[in-house]
Amino acid sequence: MYDLIILGGGPAGTGATVYAARKQLKTAIITSEFGGQSTVSDTIYNWIGTPSISGMDLSLNFKKHILFYKGPFLDVIEGEKVVEVSKNDNIILVKIESGKTYETKALIIATGSDRRKLEAINADKYEHKGITYCASCDGPLYDGQDVLVIGGGNAGFETSAQLLAYCKSVTMIHRSDKFRADEITIKKLLENPKFKVIKNADILRVDGPQFINSLTYKDKITGVEHTIPTTGIFVEIGQIPNVGFVKNIVDINEFGKIIVDQMTQMTSVPGIWAAGDCTNGRYHQNNIATGDAVKALEDAYLWIQKNK
Ligand SMILES: Cc1cc2nc3c(=O)[nH]c(=O)nc-3n(C[C@H](O)[C@H](O)[C@H](O)COP(=O)(O)OP(=O)(O)OC[C@H]3O[C@@H](n4cnc5c(N)ncnc54)[C@H](O)[C@@H]3O)c2cc1C
Repeated sequence: MYDLIILGGGPAGTGATVYAARKQLKTAIITSEFGGQSTVSDTIYNWIGTPSISGMDLSLNFKKHILFYKGPFLDVIEGEKVVEVSKNDNIILVKIESGKTYETKALIIATGSDRRKLEAINADKYEHKGITYCASCDGPLYDGQDVLVIGGGNAGFETSAQLLAYCKSVTMIHRSDKFRADEITIKKLLENPKFKVIKNADILRVDGPQFINSLTYKDKITGVEHTIPTTGIFVEIGQIPNVGFVKNIVDINEFGKIIVDQMTQMTSVPGIWAAGDCTNGRYHQNNIATGDAVKALEDAYLWIQKNK
């Protein structure tokens, strides 16, 4: 039986694992792969202490850092997906896809999330060629350009606000008539002359030679198709947290994210913590995921000592 199992090898899972190994807890990390979501990025500019690093190198660094501690206190189970977590009295059972079940006293869930992808003709072809899912990461590359933001929720408005600081214009494209964001934010942005909105739009396709240069949508009210020129499309239509395997145990909010105590990262179930993009934490970045996971680990460590 382990003291602790950590699920996920992104920045959150890696952070928790390094700290757990240094505290010599009997730990296992189980992850389908190392690195996490941002490893698809060509360059990551805001990983603290490293002015720029490719996503691939970042994931290799995570793996190297973890393997450095592999040994009597740390088992590394890579290439395996967790499919079920259950609890039997005070023992937590973690089942992986290949059928094996591991037992642990404590669990940190750091399985992140996947971005909801834009569904339109050619959208997958232009990912990282004008279509992006992260304004903080890629926004500055679009300095002085006319860009589009897809999605009229808080994330869409926050992304637009960030982009308005340096883009020539930002046009939000929203599928319905009503926004799903805070009134005060909506009002503030609508007052900005560089910000435009297109509502009731059904996005059909994106096009371009090598990089994107236009988006075509159908007006749901009139049925008329429009094509708008653009060099950048920021997609903010939500995330899909990877929490299906734990849904029946811990409390999940209406967006499918694990609800945690923001002070400790503990979930609704004692002995289970969560950190990073799979949680209801408000902001999602690599550094935040790592910080929250270390917070979870510190709390889990005290809890394990107390419940020995
Ligand atoms: C395209 C893109 C670019 C980004 N660029 C930046 C950036 O430049 N800077 C920045 O700070 N943030 C960036 N972000 C945000 C950042 O990637 C996330 O906030 C961060 O990765 C969250 O870390 P995490 O560890 O919580 O989850 P993730 O990074 O999602 O990692 C989850 C881990 O869990 C594993 N996993 C998932 N499900 C299972 C399962 N069932 N069983 C076992 N393992 C599982 C995955 O393989 C993965 O290793 C970007 C996001 C995207 C989508």
